[in-house]
Amino acid sequence: MAIKQKTKSLSVTGSRLSSTFVQLNVLNGKDISDAKFPRFSDKLATLGHQPFKPTEIEIFQLNIGKLCNQTCAHCHVDAGPDKKAENMSMADLEKCVELIAATPTIQVVDITGGAPEMHPGFRWFVEECTKLGKRVIDRCNLTIIMANPKYRDLPEFLAKHKVHVVSSLPYFSKKRTDGQRGDGVFEDSIKALQLLNEVGYGQPGSGLVLDLVFNPSGAYLPGKQEELQAEFKRQLDRKFGIVFNELYAITNLPVSRFLDYLIETGNYEEYMQKLVDAYNPSTVESLMCRNTVSVSWDGFLYDCDFNQMLDLKVAAKGQHLTTFDADELRKRNIVMNQHCYGCTAGAGSSCTGVVA
Ligand code: SF4
Ligand code: SF4
Repeated sequence: MAIKQKTKSLSVTGSRLSSTFVQLNVLNGKDISDAKFPRFSDKLATLGHQPFKPTEIEIFQLNIGKLCNQTCAHCHVDAGPDKKAENMSMADLEKCVELIAATPTIQVVDITGGAPEMHPGFRWFVEECTKLGKRVIDRCNLTIIMANPKYRDLPEFLAKHKVHVVSSLPYFSKKRTDGQRGDGVFEDSIKALQLLNEVGYGQPGSGLVLDLVFNPSGAYLPGKQEELQAEFKRQLDRKFGIVFNELYAITNLPVSRFLDYLIETGNYEEYMQKLVDAYNPSTVESLMCRNTVSVSWDGFLYDCDFNQMLDLKVAAKGQHLTTFDADELRKRNIVMNQHCYGCTAGAGSSCTGVVA
């Protein structure tokens, strides 16, 4: 907890362009400096990508709030049941709809949280975005469907609006899933997946897409996405009759609760070294920050969800929904730092899995 408080105060008071991890070293008095690792910006420079520029904004990712029915150990947004204040206002949600409508390059509205379905404006927002013809993604933690009878009709609601459901499932066994996400999570996740399958999600020809997210439960990189997907498909079908479309293997980035975990267990430097050693230049062109804008619950704009957690706002004049300017955002330099090694390790990592 002490470390978490220190990391928070740093992210608010520190210079945005200096190294978060070097600052952590100073304040925590621990040898966790990242100075020994090659600078990520130098890696980009050798590819002619310094500064790193975006393409068009195609994905509008919205962290609608930090309220969640779970408190997962690795959560990079620090969400939980006590985060009642940190949720987007209806006025800002309406502003999002207005901006999405006015920005024709946006094709996808990616809603995350917390458990986004707990926000009172969630269903309204989904309906408005669907009316605009946008593809909507709900990053659903699955257990919310079982958490309270008022959410039990979520599968029908999501199916009605052809929402693309993306759900975390750490593993196809109770032990590993509950270990990462809490007691009882595996059982509820399986029931929720079965309910989603019943309304057509993941079923061939239904047009209802159900993708799963795998992320490692410790200080190691995920295995090959294709192999993990094949194994998950085999095991979930055999044990529970569950089907899904794709599995995204996502690397844990050294931010927020996962950074706390790395520091507390003395694994920070070893993990960073793994990320650096696995740097893959062919991932750079497809990094998700190039075509994404990420909006926080309080309306600020970021290059990605991870920068949001580090309070690294977009390097543009308009840093808030109220000053959103798509042309200015297109001209910005993407704010990058040592945590970006997490997106370029191996086959790369993004909110939709590998990138290379
Ligand atoms: S379900 Fe997702 S948002 Fe909620 S605590 Fe777990 S990782 Fe965080
Ligand atoms: S953390 Fe990943 S997505 Fe975010 S700016 Fe760095 S490379 Fe881009």
